[in-house]
Amino acid sequence: MNTFRDFKRYAEQVADTARWAARMGWAPATSTNYSVRLPDEAAPAICAITMSGIEKERLYADSVLAVDGDGLPMNGNLLRPSAETLLHLMLYRRKNVGAVLHTHSMAAAMLSRSAEVTGHLSFSGWELLKGLDGIDRHDCDVRLPIFPNSQDMAQLAAHIEPRLLDTEACYGFLLAGHGLYVWGKTLTDAKRHLEVFEYLLQCERAVGHHG
Ligand SMILES: [Zn+2]
Repeated sequence: MNTFRDFKRYAEQVADTARWAARMGWAPATSTNYSVRLPDEAAPAICAITMSGIEKERLYADSVLAVDGDGLPMNGNLLRPSAETLLHLMLYRRKNVGAVLHTHSMAAAMLSRSAEVTGHLSFSGWELLKGLDGIDRHDCDVRLPIFPNSQDMAQLAAHIEPRLLDTEACYGFLLAGHGLYVWGKTLTDAKRHLEVFEYLLQCERAVGHHG
């Protein structure tokens, strides 16, 4: 599929990222999904995203497709986009989101469940917080909102979207018992944010403040 000239390059970046996340242990049992925003010349395509239900260890560029603003594959592509495409598109409606990464690590699943009633996880005092865009000290307070999980992605996106608007310095959120979404201005930023949060989730889980 050639949505535009450079599509393969974007598809390869997405596939590399998916294999990396799988190697890190964040993508069990064909779960998780990854995307990058496509440039304006690819319109009406919005992003390049991984297809549904494939082992991420074996995911290459031919399993990445372009979708439009409704989450439909471009150019009659027969690949089925990730079931969670609507959440990626919700994030691409925000400014400064160039890549969206979604993982299912055990730490994210466990902590998001035990802290669901609180509605967020709070991170403070960790040096690695400085890996987040715009943060240059460890003694700040970074919140990761937690939303209830659902199998209805349209309903989930409608629930989450208005609640993210007022959180300017927001880098991600958790779905309870499910996993982590992070984003960044670029794919490099998003990958760094993912590493920061996965690391901090493991720290918090080891510390054991969350039940
Ligand atoms: Zn998921």
